[in-house]
Amino acid sequence: MDSCIFCKIKNKEIPSKIVFEDERIVAFNDANPQAPVHILLIPKEHFVSLNDIPEEKKDVLSHLLLKARQIAQQQGISKNGYRIVLNTERDSGQEVFHIHFHLLGGRRMTWPPG
Ligand code: AMP
Ligand code: ZN
Repeated sequence: MDSCIFCKIKNKEIPSKIVFEDERIVAFNDANPQAPVHILLIPKEHFVSLNDIPEEKKDVLSHLLLKARQIAQQQGISKNGYRIVLNTERDSGQEVFHIHFHLLGGRRMTWPPG
């Protein structure tokens, strides 16, 4: 998707700090981190939100989640804990309409979210 900022990151058309990449997904540091560790994980294929993932593509979701778990281990936040967030559409606060998981950690989180 030409106008999508996360597709541009995936295509290396705009700079980002990529922490992991394989044939299906990319993980990179959030530009406006809300915690000491704040990493975004995206599928390379453009989907607007969770609402947009077809049944036959569902495997990418488990791949993203388990890679987030592995990155949390590598970042040293696994034992104390971390939060994975998947904002979906307007009421959630989704601002970038290319599906992404947030991996947040390195500080104590509060609940409920705002
Ligand atoms: P959301 O509100 O769930 O759509 O989150 C979008 C996230 O993308 C926010 O945390 C932003 O800080 C982050 N973001 C926006 N533009 C960039 C960028 N160019 N590089 C890295 N992170 C970005
Ligand atoms: Zn995109």
